[in-house]
Amino acid sequence: MKYQAIKGVKDILPKDIGKWHFLEKTAKELFETFCYYEIRVPVFEKTTVFSRSIGEDTDIVEKEMYTFKDKGDESITLRPEGTASIARAFVEHQMYNPASVVKLYYSGPMFRYERPQSGRFRQFYQIGVEAFGSEDPSIDAEVIFILMELLRRVGIPSLELNLNNIGCTACRPIYRDKLQKYFNSRLNALCKNCNQRNVKNPLRILDCKNKGCIEIVNNAPTIDQFRCEKCKVNFDQVQNLLNKLDTPFKINLRLVRGLDYYSRTAFEVLASGLGAQNAVAGGGRYDGLVKEFGGPQTPAVGFAMGVERIISLVEHQGKFTFKPNVFIVSLGDIAKEAAFQLLNKLRMDAIPSDWSSNQGSLKSQMRKADRSGADFTLIIGENELKNEKLILRNMQTSQQEEIPLKNIVESVKSRIKS
Ligand code: ATP
Ligand code: MG
Repeated sequence: MKYQAIKGVKDILPKDIGKWHFLEKTAKELFETFCYYEIRVPVFEKTTVFSRSIGEDTDIVEKEMYTFKDKGDESITLRPEGTASIARAFVEHQMYNPASVVKLYYSGPMFRYERPQSGRFRQFYQIGVEAFGSEDPSIDAEVIFILMELLRRVGIPSLELNLNNIGCTACRPIYRDKLQKYFNSRLNALCKNCNQRNVKNPLRILDCKNKGCIEIVNNAPTIDQFRCEKCKVNFDQVQNLLNKLDTPFKINLRLVRGLDYYSRTAFEVLASGLGAQNAVAGGGRYDGLVKEFGGPQTPAVGFAMGVERIISLVEHQGKFTFKPNVFIVSLGDIAKEAAFQLLNKLRMDAIPSDWSSNQGSLKSQMRKADRSGADFTLIIGENELKNEKLILRNMQTSQQEEIPLKNIVESVKSRIKS
């Protein structure tokens, strides 16, 4: 029988993992500099954690969730995103503290039953941050800045930060009604999906990728005409602070997010070179979510970025591949045993080292040494052992030298460093 991974789910192989480590390490360092600390939440939750918070009539909940009954007949869902679980954990562990902002980051797999295609998978990874406990626009600006700085540090070219303020519980309902009326008189020109969307959540029509719908949306009323005074001021402040941090953005009045819990600040980062799946990250403010989970009213803001889409834009594959510093080649049984011991010594001294445990001929071992990408090859034959001198070959220059067996680890180390 031939086994294959499930459609839309990918293995990440050692040849590619270097980029992942680079991104994860860069993110961790940056987040911790901004005093965001890691939280790890389960990959599955009770279904209602997602359905209630993300919104019953969103794409994620309607079509994309991996939901199943467990053996206790409980409805379980593999997390489609991180924010809902983190808000649930925040309330469950009473992490709220009126005196401080709780700043968290996370990283891990998410699951959505989508049509697999380039940049769109059924298991994919996200890295994100969430800041709970402040309404201050400086937190919105901080979160957005961290995202843009991370993308800059990993070297993603041609990014566009789209920014909007989608109103709050005071002003958004008014906009929503206006929008609904506008679409109601144009239902014939909207796709079937959008006809349904208009009943419960007309804002989601703004997100439709259908050509006919886009044309209608282009002339639809925009949120800026409806924002309340507080949202107007807030949006100005967020923009001002982003300017202060030299973070360019483009106002996009049609930007809404595909999840219900957002309010005020909403943003998305687009990258060129990814085709249709060009959104690398998105986020915004979600001031009502903690309360929804039974906690006290707690404003919050965060982002999530799609790791695969970013990885596909990280260049210089060679820079991230693993290779040993030293490859040991041995000839004969006695030398093999000595090589085994020496190999372990090098490794215990934190020098990445390898050999061919199958030994084989000198020629085939040299070929393996070459293929391994090692900086140096150490050659041990019985004569070398007798004379207590080994041959060290610099794989780049092909120069060979004899070095004494005594203090060999130190000698090798000094050459690796130089
Ligand atoms: P899209 O419009 O591409 O469907 P989304 O709005 O559903 O994105 P979010 O829920 O905001 O995405 O998730 C944040 C990021 O996670 C996206 O910007 C994207 O980079 C990534 N992402 C979302 N869904 C997938 C997927 N199925 N496969 C790979 N990456 C994804
Ligand atoms: Mg989506």
